[in-house]
Amino acid sequence: MSPYDAPLAPTSPVIPRTAKRDPMVDTFGRSIRYLRVSVTDRCDLRCLYCMPEMMTFLPKAEVLSLEELERLSTLFVEMGVEKLRLTGGEPLMRRGLMQLVQHLSAFLKDGRLKELTLTTNGTRLTEFAQPLAQAGIKRINVSLDTLDPDKFRRITRNGDIKRVLAGIAAAQAAGLQVKINTVALAQDNRAEIPAILAWAHGQGCDMTLIETMPMGEIDEDRTDQFVSLAVVRDDLASIWTLTDLPDQTGGPARYVRVEETGRKLGFITPLSHNFCDSCNRVRLTCTGTLHTCLGQDDDTDLRGVLRANPDDDGPVREAIRGAIVGKPKGHDFRIGKGEGPAVSRHMSTTGG
Ligand code: SAM
Ligand code: SF4
Repeated sequence: MSPYDAPLAPTSPVIPRTAKRDPMVDTFGRSIRYLRVSVTDRCDLRCLYCMPEMMTFLPKAEVLSLEELERLSTLFVEMGVEKLRLTGGEPLMRRGLMQLVQHLSAFLKDGRLKELTLTTNGTRLTEFAQPLAQAGIKRINVSLDTLDPDKFRRITRNGDIKRVLAGIAAAQAAGLQVKINTVALAQDNRAEIPAILAWAHGQGCDMTLIETMPMGEIDEDRTDQFVSLAVVRDDLASIWTLTDLPDQTGGPARYVRVEETGRKLGFITPLSHNFCDSCNRVRLTCTGTLHTCLGQDDDTDLRGVLRANPDDDGPVREAIRGAIVGKPKGHDFRIGKGEGPAVSRHMSTTGG
């Protein structure tokens, strides 16, 4: 029986590891420290900007097993990854996810991972907040683009905001720090962003705004919904005092402190401000494809190497190293009438 078939209980990692580290540095001198793992492409919502209503999901055989996800994640940790984010699709839809979280949390305990975290739509947090906190997760991101129940139903194509709000409350009750992620949408929420910010900070949550990225075909033209965060920032600066904070994360977000609330607001601006120079991250899809850049069609199949070498990590390491060497200098996202997606895959497959 696979350890992942056993009932949920605190267990040690399936794959025992030594403490050696073998860092990854790309040809531009960027040290790869951050891995985002999409554990499933499936989702219980269908956000308008993310996927079409009739989304075709991957056949199960193409999706990595939890053991395979753990094996690959472990290799990345051995190769210098210090921060690992589980995402999707909706990560909490993946059966057995909590066992994977528990196994990976062993790397928090031995100090090799500084952070293990999760991005979720929040609909299942009432069930999972407590076990996540018990496994050593300290912070999570919850995506929420509106506080209006009808608009939420429309943007997510039938989602129930009550479940998300209850999920956020459950997460906070379990001691998890919650950051709210909001995609800025010209038509659907630009006017509401000040209210969402006031609510999030009032709840004790930091917030990050994200520009829509041209990833994967959806049912509508994203151009109509694109709004530059430079414009949104001006909107917010007419209400609050925004003080720039020094960049400490090396990540794509630029942060300000909202003086009146004392909390942080982040801006992820791939379109209006490119963040590639300091990019320290790579993404692993649930099919074992490694993307070293969110905005380029580069990919390396790790599943084939993994399955061909069940007892030998050497070739898998080589494949990872080869991919890192080829990490592009940067993306060239553009959004404009008739441009179409910059990359064909959806954010839900890549792991946003
Ligand atoms: N389902 C989870 C959630 O919604 O938080 C995790 C996966 S979702 C793909 C991760 C993040 O990507 C969400 O905050 C979502 O709003 C964002 N996202 C999805 N498609 C996007 C796009 N085309 N442009 C910008 N952000 C996008
Ligand atoms: Fe699902 Fe997240 Fe995509 Fe919305 S953004 S459809 S919740 S994967």
